[in-house]
Amino acid sequence: MSQAPGELPVVNESQKRREEEALERRMAEIRHKLLVLSGKGGVGKSTVAANLAVSLSRAGKHVGLLDVDVHGPSIPGIMGLEGQSPALLGEEILPVGVNERLAVMSMGFLLASGRDAVIWRGPRKYGAIQQFLKDVFWGPLDYLVVDSPPGTGDEPLSVAQLVGGGAEAVVVTTPQRVAIADVRRCVAFCEAVSLPVRGIVENMSGLDCPHCGKRVDLFGSGGGRALAEEMGVPFLGAIPIDPAVVVSGDAGAIPSDPAGQTPAARAFDAVVGAILEGHGGQKE
Ligand code: ADP
Repeated sequence: MSQAPGELPVVNESQKRREEEALERRMAEIRHKLLVLSGKGGVGKSTVAANLAVSLSRAGKHVGLLDVDVHGPSIPGIMGLEGQSPALLGEEILPVGVNERLAVMSMGFLLASGRDAVIWRGPRKYGAIQQFLKDVFWGPLDYLVVDSPPGTGDEPLSVAQLVGGGAEAVVVTTPQRVAIADVRRCVAFCEAVSLPVRGIVENMSGLDCPHCGKRVDLFGSGGGRALAEEMGVPFLGAIPIDPAVVVSGDAGAIPSDPAGQTPAARAFDAVVGAILEGHGGQKE
């Protein structure tokens, strides 16, 4: 990279066009792009993005996990990659490899401190996201899973515009009725930016009691499915509240569950099954 992310280079029109073409070429190497979105923070968007990427790689796909949440990049922590600094190859940034089928790139690897991004204003942030998408060298990928900034403001808008054609949204919600307005806004946002919705994932959907094994619906249940039906978008599945998710999220231990044995990991595999089916099945 010739300048730090967020630093706006002085560009003329032909330079700008070249940058856009470079970004298009980069994105053309990726077969499927899934933008993980949520109407608001705290619903488990980053957790879902990370687990979908792990589960897709477990299903044999070549996957990139990209965290463009400039204000609170949480993927390095969730994936146990905090403090990593990606290698540079000329102008290109090499993502951090987790295994032979999964690589990760986060704004968090490049920001010297959490305060760096907070002071960026609109165009500077757009420039940073564009440069980031353009400069990361993934090579050919089956899936790029993007942990987008939360909400439906300028930042997710920049990401949706820059990632370009062929991307699809995975909308994460929780089961409560109060989440409905957020999901509606999120689906309307996708329509406004011509981003097809691959489906809705209901997270924190019940807890299997460790003592009696019965399901306890702490936040209610079925809200995600009902919403999906109401809005005419696919329902991809429900992820239970799983203490293993909290532990692995805090300890950055997701990759240590490669076999997918926890209730949440099994639920993520089911969601990935639904995604793959929609893309022509496992053999695509
Ligand atoms: P967001 O990206 O929407 O802000 P996070 O993915 O950071 O949300 O999740 C918020 C918190 O909730 C984290 O501590 C995470 O470990 C926890 N969490 C998310 N999903 C689950 C789940 N299915 N079971 C248990 N804890 C979860």
